[in-house]
Amino acid sequence: MDPKDAPNVEPVLGGRVPLLWPDLSPCAIKAAIQQGVWENRCLARCDSGCEYIGMRESTWIMKPTARSHKPRQGKSSVRSSSIAALLENIVTANLILAQHGVLDAYGHVSVRHPEEPEHFLLSRSMAPELVTESDIIEFGLDGRPVGRDLRKPHLETPIHSEIYKARPDVMAIVHSHAPSVIPFCASTARLRPIYHMSSFLSTDTPVFDIRKKFGCTDMLVREPEQGTALAATLGKGRVALMRGHGFVTAGDTLPLAVFQAIYTTLNASLLCQAISLGGEITYLESDEAELAWETNRASVSKPWEVWTRNALRRVGEPKRGTRR
Ligand SMILES: [Zn+2]
Repeated sequence: MDPKDAPNVEPVLGGRVPLLWPDLSPCAIKAAIQQGVWENRCLARCDSGCEYIGMRESTWIMKPTARSHKPRQGKSSVRSSSIAALLENIVTANLILAQHGVLDAYGHVSVRHPEEPEHFLLSRSMAPELVTESDIIEFGLDGRPVGRDLRKPHLETPIHSEIYKARPDVMAIVHSHAPSVIPFCASTARLRPIYHMSSFLSTDTPVFDIRKKFGCTDMLVREPEQGTALAATLGKGRVALMRGHGFVTAGDTLPLAVFQAIYTTLNASLLCQAISLGGEITYLESDEAELAWETNRASVSKPWEVWTRNALRRVGEPKRGTRR
């Protein structure tokens, strides 16, 4: 974008700033935040409401939140070059989750569109480990593909559309049928955090029972109304279990959603072991969990980096978009 089109920027902190428009893509900015290059805090706000978090080479860096981005002009396209890095990260997230056993042939991961907050990106219906950039579809919050995309979507797309609709703060979602979690979806034993790595779990992780409102079903969240009910069970939390089915986790970023999905399954495995010992279990208290989560979320770039490296190594780092 031409610098002359830049908005007026009033710094919240510090002195006057050059009026240059950031030319970095939102996904590149988000990656920089996750890598700790910039702090995710607002330093300036322009007169159209966009928030900025810092500068690089005299260019202000826009804060990549759903509320702070102006809608793009013209027809949306998942193939926009500005989101190429994000598409790569979605593919990587699928690989990571598959390799950690969080996803198998089923389950899915989505990301809210960084430039169109009313859209999200999710693969067509296929096994996560096989997803490439070209398999990713752009959806609206009505759960329908944007434009004339006739590829088959996941049956449970309403999980994603309804949570994004109910939670403007959520930027990424993982839905999983991981076996280690299923016992806590089917018994009165509650999934609670037993170590710091799973401190994002509520002290009373809710369980969505589709039968209570929708009677006998095949257990899948196929309809928008079912997704709305699941989103209501999730509430403001990060994880909701699904009776006889699996779980869903909602994150502020894609790496955080992946982190939460992996450590939800690990906490479930460890808690099963603790229960089998027969002794009294001491869970994290809510104040401990809050402190631990602040520490973990600030360092998510560390596991994301090694998970990415390992995932790409295991698939032989093929040329993007060509792996089958
Ligand atoms: Zn499912």
